[in-house]
Amino acid sequence: MSKDFGKSQKLFSKASQYLVGGVNSPVRAFNDVDNIPVFIKKAVGSKIYDVDGNVYIDFVGAYGPMILGHADPSVLSAIHEALVGGMVFGANCQAETTLAELILSVFPFYDKIRFVNSGTEAVMSAIRLARGVTGKSKVIKFAGCYHGHMDDLLVAAGSGVASMGLPGSAGVTKESAQNTIVLPYNDFEAVRDAFKKYKMEIAAVITEPVAGNMGLVLPKDGFLGHLRSEADSAGALLISDEVMCGFREYYGSAMIKQSVKADITCLGKIIGGGMPVGAFLANAAIMDNVAPLGPVYQAGTFSGNPIVMAAGISTLQQLKNPRFYLSLNSKTTKIVQGIKNETTYPVQINQYGSMFSLFFSKREILNYEDAKRCDTHIFPSFFNKLTTKGLFVPPSPFETWFVSKCHSDNDINKTIEIITKSLNEL
Ligand code: PLP
Repeated sequence: MSKDFGKSQKLFSKASQYLVGGVNSPVRAFNDVDNIPVFIKKAVGSKIYDVDGNVYIDFVGAYGPMILGHADPSVLSAIHEALVGGMVFGANCQAETTLAELILSVFPFYDKIRFVNSGTEAVMSAIRLARGVTGKSKVIKFAGCYHGHMDDLLVAAGSGVASMGLPGSAGVTKESAQNTIVLPYNDFEAVRDAFKKYKMEIAAVITEPVAGNMGLVLPKDGFLGHLRSEADSAGALLISDEVMCGFREYYGSAMIKQSVKADITCLGKIIGGGMPVGAFLANAAIMDNVAPLGPVYQAGTFSGNPIVMAAGISTLQQLKNPRFYLSLNSKTTKIVQGIKNETTYPVQINQYGSMFSLFFSKREILNYEDAKRCDTHIFPSFFNKLTTKGLFVPPSPFETWFVSKCHSDNDINKTIEIITKSLNEL
């Protein structure tokens, strides 16, 4: 079965004249898979359609937000209703408080939230807040965790950066990077040693409680609790970056699921229902340091935008139904088990709720070094087989795949068949 990509090829060649690398975000360039990107015409439910008329079952899910599938009718009608009332006001609207309430209801020990326009902005503001509150500078992050493209954290930053073969980014000054301490994920001892060495200087430790940007890597039992107690002993804050994993496994926080309370949580993706969003939240003692109440400045023309808020409210209202995640997570387990049962190819598949990823390795993947040691050179061939057979998956071995409410039994069976067939052909 081969596909025609002629229109995509023409569009990409024109796009490359005007857009850097023909794209507006590096992972979309398909550099890792020896191919050129397809151009999308539309996406509905679990399917995505390219300009050449090819149809794919979508597991990119726009890198996380599309938990309801594409063009969900309730979200569309909420957006439309908001849209006809005006697009941005430079003033308050009630929807901001409604979405705040929906989110804060599952963070019982937090009081306040600030909406921003992207996950990057949420993390950048949370780090500034942590430094403002503690009066300290250094931040611990974990290799392979991506927290957006703010300078200080663009060091050993996983998927996008890894795919470009870059250790970090040009343009990040020594001064920004020197306040960042990078440790291996799941390494208890490295965390203990870093806190011992830099104790009085550490403002915060930031982590993805379930890491999704080196492929999907789960925290070892007790790892998040260990971060909590080390941070407490040093008077540092624990920041949970749940831009990707928040609201992915159940209606709530991945950190709280492990019985750990972060001081600040960052959200994004899902809470905007497909529109650009980010948020950071904490208790009043911390959040009241943010302007206009406190000295930590943070602002945004589009923050709390009524269209984004409407899409977020409509999405979270659907996710609140307790049956929602039972069904979604079991679809994902069915795919993961199906592949495991039907292939003898040596792969590891990690799953968290409706996220999963596949590593070409015989060994368990616990951190970024493990992920990089996989047979990543096989990935381009695997990816191109999947694309030809009708699956739309991220074009990098270091990305997570996302399942939506719209993936049907038929999609699931077809996906298992395509993946196992492609593995057997490698
Ligand atoms: N934090 C995490 C965990 C992410 O996965 C991402 C993006 O993938 C970000 C932050 C940055 O979010 P955005 O791309 O909306 O700036």
